Amino acid sequence: MRIGKILENEKKVKFNAEIYCTDCNKKVPGGLQTGEKYYGTESFKKELESFKKTYLCGICRDKKRTNK
Ligand SMILES: [Zn+2]
Repeated sequence: MRIGKILENEKKVKFNAEIYCTDCNKKVPGGLQTGEKYYGTESFKKELESFKKTYLCGICRDKKRTNK
């Protein structure tokens, strides 16, 4: 998965984060990518935090979609 900003032709940083679905609490594989310049910045940290707080796994996302 990609988060944050990745500029064209920029090197990507791959990292792992502990991510849990906010609905069913299932742990999801936390392989993430972001741009080299963005990685480690304050806005990166904030974005990662809010990403974790709002993340839904594929199953829960589908559930929400069909409930509508
Ligand atoms: Zn879920």
